[in-house]
Amino acid sequence: MSCALVTGASRGLGRAIAVQLAKDHGLYILVNYSSNLAAAEEALEEIRTAGGDGELLQFNVQTKTEVDGALNGWRERNEEKFISVLVNNAGITRDGLFMWMPEQDWDDVMSISAKGLFNVTQNIIQHMLRKRTGRIVNVASVSGMKGVAGQTNYSAAKGAIISATKALAQEVAKRKITVNAVAPGFITSDMTKDLNENELKQMIPMNRFGKADEVAHLVSFLCSDKAAYITGEVININGGIYS
Ligand code: NAP
Repeated sequence: MSCALVTGASRGLGRAIAVQLAKDHGLYILVNYSSNLAAAEEALEEIRTAGGDGELLQFNVQTKTEVDGALNGWRERNEEKFISVLVNNAGITRDGLFMWMPEQDWDDVMSISAKGLFNVTQNIIQHMLRKRTGRIVNVASVSGMKGVAGQTNYSAAKGAIISATKALAQEVAKRKITVNAVAPGFITSDMTKDLNENELKQMIPMNRFGKADEVAHLVSFLCSDKAAYITGEVININGGIYS
């Protein structure tokens, strides 16, 4: 049975992506989350209501031993299942001007987004390489494309994801594994709930924040057979913000 692992699938973009992958591709969804069990259970319920199925898989993407423990343990219990789709979505922001940024805020943002991608992808890709198939989609950001003041840590982490996407895509293309990134602009979610949408939308040509579903459709397309020849790409989805 083919499965999709979506990191940070309990809320926001990750949840929408998980539901869409179940709907569009009939994939069995591994709903990863960090600490919010109630939200993760709701996400799984949404997947089931949409006609899909899956299970929760808690781990902190920051810690390699935790990631390997959870994924290797799952694989031992599910020998008939194969993770053919990986969406590296888990991410946080810790915004602030660089000159006053606490070291912890730099480290946390880098270790969840950039190191998290390494931890999860390295575990999963061994099996994709053996099976000679796979789809990896990394959730970057407009911040990683253009750099955003007040987000030096986040811009650096997302920039790292973009470059890693391009490099890894070249390493694994021969094994029919595609690696792409999406770079959303402002999308309505818990991450952006404290932002002033009325003010910020004035700099978005579409004059609104995007919806998690809109990102999910793009990710779902990149995971489809139709996208087999697209790899190493970063696709902006930002309502027309120049990046
Ligand atoms: P969100 O609503 O804050 O959700 C974050 C998700 O990541 C939650 O499921 C959370 O799990 C999970 N998570 C956080 N730290 C984790 C860790 N250490 N290990 C595993 N899971 C972890 O954020 P969002 O807006 O959906 O953002 C999702 C992704 O899109 C992020 O990578 C973000 O940078 C990117 N993005 C968002 C926007 C936007 O405007 N919203 C724009 C561009 C890019 P818990 O529920 O357990 O905490």
